[in-house]
Amino acid sequence: MQVLSVASEIYPLIKTGGLADVVGALPEALEKNGVKVKTLIPLYASIAAKLGKGKLLFEYESLLGEKAKLMAFNHDGLDIIALDAPSLFNRAGGPYIDENGIDFADNWKRFAALSKAASDIAGGILKSYAPDIIHCHDWQAALTPVYMRYGNERAQKTKSIVTIHNIAFQGRYGANIFEGLELPTEAFGIEGIEYYGDLSFLKGGLALCDIITTVSPTYAQEIVTQEFGMGLEGLIGARFSDVIGIVNGIDDKIWNPKTDNLIPENYDAKSLTARVKNRRKIEEAFGLKRARGPIYCVISRLTWQKGMDILVDICEALTHIGVRVAILGTGETQIENAFVAASKKFRGKIGTIIGYDENLSHILQSGSDGILIPSRFEPCGLTQLYGLKYGCVPIVARTGGLADTIIDANEAALNAGLATGFQFNKVTQHELYHAIARATEIYNDKKQWAQIQRNGMKADFSWNKSGKKYAELYEKLLTRDI
Ligand code: ADP
Repeated sequence: MQVLSVASEIYPLIKTGGLADVVGALPEALEKNGVKVKTLIPLYASIAAKLGKGKLLFEYESLLGEKAKLMAFNHDGLDIIALDAPSLFNRAGGPYIDENGIDFADNWKRFAALSKAASDIAGGILKSYAPDIIHCHDWQAALTPVYMRYGNERAQKTKSIVTIHNIAFQGRYGANIFEGLELPTEAFGIEGIEYYGDLSFLKGGLALCDIITTVSPTYAQEIVTQEFGMGLEGLIGARFSDVIGIVNGIDDKIWNPKTDNLIPENYDAKSLTARVKNRRKIEEAFGLKRARGPIYCVISRLTWQKGMDILVDICEALTHIGVRVAILGTGETQIENAFVAASKKFRGKIGTIIGYDENLSHILQSGSDGILIPSRFEPCGLTQLYGLKYGCVPIVARTGGLADTIIDANEAALNAGLATGFQFNKVTQHELYHAIARATEIYNDKKQWAQIQRNGMKADFSWNKSGKKYAELYEKLLTRDI
C-alpha cells in the first residue's frame, strides 16, 4: 500500500512543534506494517541545503500562478517529495512567520499550493507514483481533499484522511482569496470551504475527506464540544462515526535515555542515580542553585494554550515549597517577559531560557525530576511521553492526550504500583499549585518516587501500537469497511 503524507513540517528537517515529530516518525512506523509512505513538504529555504540535490519529478508552468517543481529526495531514510516553488518558499524566516515573527501574508497561497500539488499527485501527475491514500496533516494540508473533490476522476477516487493535530489552527481567510485558489465556484459553499462568510482550509478538508483522525481518543471526544471544538464542533459532531483518535507514539531512536547522545550521562530504569549528573548540567545552564528539592522543567510554547500564564503566576509560591523550575520555550511576549522577570526575582530558583533548543530539551528531560504541562487543551502532547521515557515525571492537566497517557498517582494507583505522574482537573493557579505540591511531597519519599519513574519508563508509547492502528485504518479505508 502506498500513502502520501502531506505536511508543513517534518523532523529532522523542519520543526516548530509536535506535528514535525509525528510526520517524521510515521513513515518508519508504517513501513513495519507494510505501508510505504512518501511525504510531501514545501521546499523551504532553510531545508534546501540539508536536502542537497534532488531528482526532478514534475515541472509546473503555473501552480496557482507560480512557477513550481516537484522534486524527490531521500533524507535520513525519509522518502521526500518537496514542492519547490521559490516565490512561495525560498525566503528567510520560519515555515509560517517572517524574521519579525509576523505571519506571511501569502500563507493561504503557500499552503493551498502544497494541497493542490498533493491533489495533483493523487490525480496521477507523477507517472511513476500513484498513492492509494492521501494523509493530510493539519490546516496547511487540509485543502487537499477539496482539490481532490474537484480534480480528475482518479483524484476523486483516491481516499483521503485529515489528521487534526491542533484544531485551534484552522487556516481561516477572507472570501477575497477564493479566486486565487483556482477552485470552482461551488467549492465556496456550506458543504465546502465556506465558513461563516469567510473560508477555512481545515473546515473544507474536514467536510470532504473520507476519515478524520485526531491524535488522542480523549481529544476526539473533546472536539465535538463547544469548549474544545473552536467552532468546528458541529461539523465534527455530524461526522462522529468518521472520527478516530489515535495517540501519537515517540521515536525511541531519538528519545531513549540509554542511547541518547545529546545528554551528558546515559541511564536506564536500573541506573536512575546517573540522572544526577544531568541535573547538574541543568543547574548550570539555567542558573539554579544546588538544593535538595526537585527541579521541574518546562519545554513548551509559552502560550495561553499551554497554561503558561497560570504557571508564571505561581512561581513565587513554588519557591516557598523548595521547588526549582527550569523553563525552556518561546511564545507570547508577555509570558516570555514574565518568566524572565520571575527568574530575576527568584534567582537560583527559577531559571528561564527563551529559545528553541533541541539539545537542551533532551538534557532537561534527562535530569529534571518532573515536567510541568498545565495545558488548557492538548490534542496529544509529546513532552509528557518523552518525560515518561526519561523518568522525568509528568505533572499534567487532565485533558486530551494528557488524560490518555498519564496515570495519576492517587492512592489506588500508588497502592497498585501503577502511577506514572500527576494530574489535575482545572487549569487554575490553585489546582496546578496543589498538584505540584502533592508531587513534591511524594518526591521526598525517594523509594516511591523512583517507583513512579520506573513505571513511566516501562510504559510503551513507541510507534509500534499506533503505527499498527494507522495501518489498520488505511486497510479498512481501502476495503471500504468504513
Ligand atoms: P505542540 O506541538 O502543541 O507544541 P507537543 O508536546 O505535541 O506540543 O510537541 C512539542 C514538541 O516541540 C516536543 O518535541 C518538544 O520537545 C518540542 N519543543 C517545544 N518547545 C521547545 C523548545 N523551546 N526547545 C526545544 N524543543 C521544544
